[in-house]
Amino acid sequence: MKFGTKAIRIQTDKTQHLEHSTPLFPTSSFVFENAEDMRAKFAGEEEGNIYSRFTNPSVRELELKIAALEGGEEGLATASGMAAIFTTFAALLASGDHILMSRAVFASTFRITENYLDKWKISYDYADPENLDSWDAMIRPETKLVYIETPSNPGLVILDLEKIATICKARGVLLVVDNCFATPYLQRPIEFGADIIIHSATKFIDGQGRVLGGLIVSTAELIEKMKGFLRNAGPTLSPFNAWILSKSLETLHVRMDRHCSNAHDLALSLHNHPNISKVSYPFLSSHPGHEIAKKQMSQGGGLITFELKGGLDAGRNFLDNIKWLSLSANLGDTRTIVTHPASTTHSKLTEEQRLMVGITPGLIRVSVGLEDKDDILDEITQALDKI
Ligand SMILES: *Cc1c(COP(=O)(O)O)cnc(C)c1O
Repeated sequence: MKFGTKAIRIQTDKTQHLEHSTPLFPTSSFVFENAEDMRAKFAGEEEGNIYSRFTNPSVRELELKIAALEGGEEGLATASGMAAIFTTFAALLASGDHILMSRAVFASTFRITENYLDKWKISYDYADPENLDSWDAMIRPETKLVYIETPSNPGLVILDLEKIATICKARGVLLVVDNCFATPYLQRPIEFGADIIIHSATKFIDGQGRVLGGLIVSTAELIEKMKGFLRNAGPTLSPFNAWILSKSLETLHVRMDRHCSNAHDLALSLHNHPNISKVSYPFLSSHPGHEIAKKQMSQGGGLITFELKGGLDAGRNFLDNIKWLSLSANLGDTRTIVTHPASTTHSKLTEEQRLMVGITPGLIRVSVGLEDKDDILDEITQALDKI
């Protein structure tokens, strides 16, 4: 089956009511037929739900769907994208291990490495996304994971999945890819050799800014390890959020087509604005990762960034000139969202750290929504004209 059909037709078994749309299962626990049924399920000899921290039908449907859409063996849902990242680290790393992480990753991902890994004696190094040739030498005997994001948030850095996966395979290291910006509709890193896929389902997968959620896709063996951590430590996804996210996946392909065409058109239209020095979008030929983006993504995604000539002050002025687009920290919503990373999401980094991840003082990130593209362009243009 093709992507859209899988996204719509993978469902848990119907109940005795033969409902068409999958019902929500808001229950913390499940009952047993008798003592033997209870014993067998607890012993793992028989399949069945016991307690929603372990399994729940609403959560399971979402896990099966994301695994099929990413082309992986198994899926696992977590309470948020950060819980997916932390679960991966907690389940697969031990004291003495090492992670090689791309410098261009989400701000909270840095906070996990910098605030928590040290105390468990897990070491890390940041690899330069512009110099893949230096990565192999940075992998050590104790390196367990290479962790990357492509396209990256917010710099839209594109990394060559096939090339990095080849390095990882040769060195026996697992490649983890945060696929949040592309979604499996645009890019399936497992096809290029990645081992573990991470999603913040909060973004395009929900797509309407309603719930938090995280997803992991990998081999059955690795997911089993992560499931163990999740069951015991508890950052499981709520059935309600899972139900919302599974419904959302039914329309992901249709929404992404429009996010991408709106974003691509906006990027082209803003190119020549006198107050902008640079527009960045993976499918523009001016993007340094354009050729690689075209090799591994089917479209350029729903985010664009542009750099204002006036720097930090211009960035703040631009936001103040916005009339009806949303100033918000989220992305991947039906509503277009503008942010100024240097003064908000990345304000806690030093100027030097910001520049390393591609955040210049005048950088504006736009998560292009599903409103009419002419209205989005008019609104952004009027805010730019007034800087
Ligand atoms: C938002 C985001 C996350 C974290 O996800 P939450 O659901 O907010 O915990 C991780 N990676 C990327 C690329 C993100 O944009």
